[in-house]
Amino acid sequence: MKKKQFKAESKKLLDMMIHSIYTNQEIFLRELISNASDALDKLYYRSLTDKKLKVKKDDLEIRIIPDKENRTLTIQDNGIGMTEEELENNLGTIAKSGSELFKESMDEKKNMSIIGQFGVGFYSAFMVSDKVTVISKSVDSDKAYCWESTGADGYSIKEVEDAPQGTQVILHLRTNTEDDNYDEFLESYSIKRLVKKYSDYIRYPIKMKEIETKKKEGSDEEEKIETDETLNSMVPIWKKAKKDVKDEEYNDFYTDKFYDYEKPLRVIRSEVEGRVSYQTLLFIPSHAPYNYYSKDYEKGLELYSKGVLIMDKCSELLPDYFSFVKGLVDSEDVSLNISRETLQENYQIESIAKSLETKIKKELENMLEKDRENYEKFYKDFGMQLKFGIYSTYGMKKDVLQDLLLFYSSKDQKYVTLKEYVDRMKKDQTTIYYACGESLAKIDLLPQVEAVKEKGFEILYLTEYIDEFTLKAMMNYDGKNFMNVADEKLDLESEEEKEALKEANEKAKDMFQEMKATLGDAVTDISFTHRLKNHPVCLTSKGEVSLEMQKVLQSMPNGESVKAETVLEINENHPIALKMKELYEKKDKEKLEEYTKVLYAQARLIEGLSLDNPTEISNLVCDLLAK
Ligand code: ADP
Repeated sequence: MKKKQFKAESKKLLDMMIHSIYTNQEIFLRELISNASDALDKLYYRSLTDKKLKVKKDDLEIRIIPDKENRTLTIQDNGIGMTEEELENNLGTIAKSGSELFKESMDEKKNMSIIGQFGVGFYSAFMVSDKVTVISKSVDSDKAYCWESTGADGYSIKEVEDAPQGTQVILHLRTNTEDDNYDEFLESYSIKRLVKKYSDYIRYPIKMKEIETKKKEGSDEEEKIETDETLNSMVPIWKKAKKDVKDEEYNDFYTDKFYDYEKPLRVIRSEVEGRVSYQTLLFIPSHAPYNYYSKDYEKGLELYSKGVLIMDKCSELLPDYFSFVKGLVDSEDVSLNISRETLQENYQIESIAKSLETKIKKELENMLEKDRENYEKFYKDFGMQLKFGIYSTYGMKKDVLQDLLLFYSSKDQKYVTLKEYVDRMKKDQTTIYYACGESLAKIDLLPQVEAVKEKGFEILYLTEYIDEFTLKAMMNYDGKNFMNVADEKLDLESEEEKEALKEANEKAKDMFQEMKATLGDAVTDISFTHRLKNHPVCLTSKGEVSLEMQKVLQSMPNGESVKAETVLEINENHPIALKMKELYEKKDKEKLEEYTKVLYAQARLIEGLSLDNPTEISNLVCDLLAK
């Protein structure tokens, strides 16, 4: 028989299991029971459509067989089983998407957290065993096969005779060491403890034979009595009375089932009776999974019909903007035969999804109101998704999402809601001001920001690329328009101030014309401004596309052609304004041209934009310095 080698990434995972850097060894039992339970689910579900399969639900079970003499622990199920090919494919490779990441990263710490997120699975058996034997007979085959491996040096598969339908995983436990006592896993009390702790909710009986030695009545002779004990309560946690379930149990259920190492921020549990009845148990995670913002992430809830799992990730139950929610729905009104194709126009699913959306929204609002610290933690990871929800629906979902948004405020130097902003607006203020930039620190230094703050207005600082697009999609909040402080239309001056500025601009009209000729179509306009306090220049934009949006759009494929209408504004109260006027009056064309180029370059740099002609500007500045 030929020894086969594990695929590279499987070997790596296996190595980590063998060297047990995953400290929580005992979870191996949970993983194997969970695989057995899945196999029973698969068989039962198959039998609903395949009438040739005679399966009685009551016969489906998982058995745990400790054998102290041979130091083996067997986990056996009478589920769907595996064919030779399936043994090869399922146990020789890591199937999950995590394997890709695995290949890339050599960092063990990081790998462990990745494993945590997609489950350690079958290989966890090697944490406690030096040899693992799997005997399996699939419903699709008359033959049974035995897969065996001692770990890193590969595995073998051979045909065996006479195996029962289903799968037996036989763990040959390691010898005890000073630190680890593997014998413990053969003791019935510790097996019972582990099943209770991790697998109580499994909906199939997990049975173990108990052998009791008793004295025969009326004599000194002993007799052995074998009893079958079911170790788990089999009542899924979402069907237990609420008062009987402790927070800790929900947390454990969540971390085990959804492979998270941190407990959830919120647990939502409810029961609905009506036209469509269902129970639901939802979780709001405390952090985003490693692949959340990638195309690999699949949203969805587990869907059960009368306690039978019929779908792993039913995506129709969650809107995209709440795609971070984990959990399950169990409904007796959903047909067992529901298929991916018919899901979309399924009335029951649609109606459940609607009510889940409301529940999730309420829970988030409640957290925002009563538990701000955790809400901010949540928002840090998932806020982007909420904003994207508004943007991608062109503002149609604004009513659901707008009050869940947070933005950093110039006033409190912390995150505020739009409602909080509006509630404390100045008396005659009708506009919500915001400024965009790469970081809070950079925004705070923007010339336009200084001026608006000076006037006593609160400004929202937007640092994520999606932010401004989101506000544009919303159009307004509570009737108040949004305005970028770098918008040319920004108008905070008094009538007199405006009049004075208009005059100054009128006077300098011809000079600006000449300057504009130097810059070509890089700018739409050049003008004096009074909105800057100490800064000499800034860029503003006219129309719908701001400079920040231009940056984002131009970085996208096919976005090169999008351009903001840019205005170069020069502080009329700054000495540089005087200098420019002087040059123009002296008809020093060459200097005026050079100064214009340098000023425009400065304004771009302040906005975080790059220069098309850095060498030219650098030379110009040096020439000016040398003079
Ligand atoms: P996961 O269960 O997360 O997919 P595992 O490494 O635990 O990953 O298992 C790999 C695959 O092996 C499973 O997806 C399943 O197809 C198969 N498998 C494992 N245990 C059993 C079992 N007891 N019966 C049938 N198939 C099984």
